[in-house]
Order: sequence, then C-alpha cells, then structure tokens
Amino acid sequence: MIITALCGMLFFVINSRRGVMILAYLELGAAVASLALYIVVRRTRRLLLWTLLYLIPFLTIMMIALYMPRSSPSVFLWVYIVPVLCHLLLGQRLGLAVSVFYILVALVMFLYKNPAYLHSNQYAEIANITLSLAATLAFAYVYEFSSHRSRSDLMVMASTDPLTRLANLYRFREAFDYEKRRALRLNSPLSVLVLDLDHFKAVNDSHGHKVGDLVLIHVAQRLRERLRGTDLPCRVGGEEFTVLLPDTGRDEAVLVAETLRELIEQQPYRGGRLVIPLSCSIGVAEWGADGDTIDELVEAADQRLYIAKQRGRNQVVAEG
Ligand code: GH3
Ligand code: MG
Ligand code: MG
Repeated sequence: MIITALCGMLFFVINSRRGVMILAYLELGAAVASLALYIVVRRTRRLLLWTLLYLIPFLTIMMIALYMPRSSPSVFLWVYIVPVLCHLLLGQRLGLAVSVFYILVALVMFLYKNPAYLHSNQYAEIANITLSLAATLAFAYVYEFSSHRSRSDLMVMASTDPLTRLANLYRFREAFDYEKRRALRLNSPLSVLVLDLDHFKAVNDSHGHKVGDLVLIHVAQRLRERLRGTDLPCRVGGEEFTVLLPDTGRDEAVLVAETLRELIEQQPYRGGRLVIPLSCSIGVAEWGADGDTIDELVEAADQRLYIAKQRGRNQVVAEG
C-alpha cells in the first residue's frame, strides 16, 4: 500500500508537469486510496473485498495509462508487476484469473496503440513481450502454489500429534473455543473426557518403549473408530488422551466414556504372538456445571480421573 501510494504521488507530479491531467488526478486518487486502505486492512474482517477494492482500480488505472494517446510505450513495463501483485494479494486461483485478464487487456491495448508490431515482421519483439510475461505469470503462480502447500503442511504439523496422528492440545483448544461458541449460540451441551491408560509404565518396562508406542497408536485407532465424526479425540501427551464431545451432556458423556473403556478392555494390543491386555480410567466433565474454560474442565476431569485411579482403575468417574 505504501509503495503504491508513493508511486501514485510521484506519477501525479510527473503527469501534471507533462499536462496529462486526467491521469495525474487518477494517480493521486489511487495514492490517497492506498493510504486509506493501509489503515483499513489492519482492522477489517473483509480482507478479500478490500483487496479487490484496491487492486481493481489500481490495475484499471494502469490499463488507462497504457491506452492514453500521449503515454510512453515504457508504461507497459508496469504490466510485469500484475501477476506478482495479484498472486501475492489474491492467492493462487483468483490471483491467476485476475492476472490473466489484465495481462490480456494490456496486450490488446499495447498492440492497438502500436500496430506496427503486427504489420511488420516483428515477431521476435512480440515473442519477447508475451513469453517474458508468461514466464513472470508462471513463476508467480508456482511460487504461490508451493507456499500455499507448505503453509497447509505446517498447519497440519502444528495441530497433529506425530505418533498417533490424533489432534494435539493446540488443536483441541481451538476446537473447544469453536464448540463453546456454537454451544452458547444453540444452547446445547458440551463435555470433555480425560482418559489415561492404566499401568502403562509396566507395558514399557516389560516390552520396551517401541511396543509402548505401538500400543498408543492402537489405542488412538480404537478411539477414532468408535467416536462420532464430530467428536474430537486428542493426545495431550504421554499415555493421556482427551475427547471433546459436542452436543453431549454429562449422562450421555458417561455412556460414551463407558463404551470407550469397554472397547479398550475388550481389544488388547496384538502384535505377532504378543498380546497385551489394556485398560483405562476416564474422568468426565461437563461445560457449565464443571467450569467454563477448557483449563477448568480438564482440571475437573483430571480430578475425577485421579479418583478413578484410586478406586482401582478401569472405570469412569463423572462426579466428585
Ligand atoms: P497409572 O495407572 O497410574 O496411570 O499408571 P501408569 O504407569 O500408566 O502411569 P505413569 O504416569 O506412572 O506412567 C506413564 C508412562 O507412560 C511413563 C512413560 O514411560 C510412558 N510414556 C509417556 N509417553 C510415552 C510415549 O510417547 N511412548 C511410550 N512408549 N511411553 C510413554
Ligand atoms: Mg497411566
Ligand atoms: Mg498418565
């Protein structure tokens, strides 16, 4: 925004000294609009709309400048920033569409104003212009494509537990914020489970850490299979898991917890001839009755988990 504002002011001065007043005032308008948008874009929630409101007039002025009878042929050099700017601001698809549109308009304008290129045999000149533009467009597109892919890969990595591929605590917190807002709006319940494997240290001690890891993957797979698509199982660390249960009150959450507890008990880990019986303890907390924030709910569920451990493990506790 600042760069375009400065360029706009500079061209206002240059064009008013040349006496091309329409263009000069358009440039000045674009400069003022860029400065105004510089302030707006920091706060707006409609970034795409504002970006288009900035970009479309900016590119249209560029086309008008190309078309003006007294403009110099070197104005065409500005067309090279079209693909770069469009991809940077609008992303891969829209960036490509808008760039292709304006590049084609610019080429038509250029040939209209310089018909000599078409009539004489200046094919090398035309090839230079079109191919260098196509290359700039392709580089901008490929750059945006690969940076978009690395951004999404990073997002997945930042929100996934690498061992079990379940959600991690970061994603769990984000999902809780979203579900809490939804629960408030729809007046629906929301519950949280904290699940801890019983005597897991013994698994590691008897079979080694690698088998312990395979057991954790096995448990994660069972949770994934049994829960609804809207429930979010998560590995918070070690052999401790949490489950976010939208649209679920305490009683129903206890039933879900019982199902998970039975499932883990009934499906021991099997690897070759090795069979490792498993069990888990689960604490249940309900949003509202047991707390409002994720920390309060996990704390409440953790205390109940502790009670379940003290009562002999392999059980669900939802009160106390
Ligand atoms: P309790 O029934 O009281 O929960 O007993 P426990 O042995 O499960 O509990 P404790 O917290 O004492 O031990 C947890 C063990 O989990 C300790 C650690 O060796 C193991 N552990 C933590 N993270 C991992 C991991 O990523 N992989 C493996 N294989 N083991 C882990
Ligand atoms: Mg444990
Ligand atoms: Mg533990």
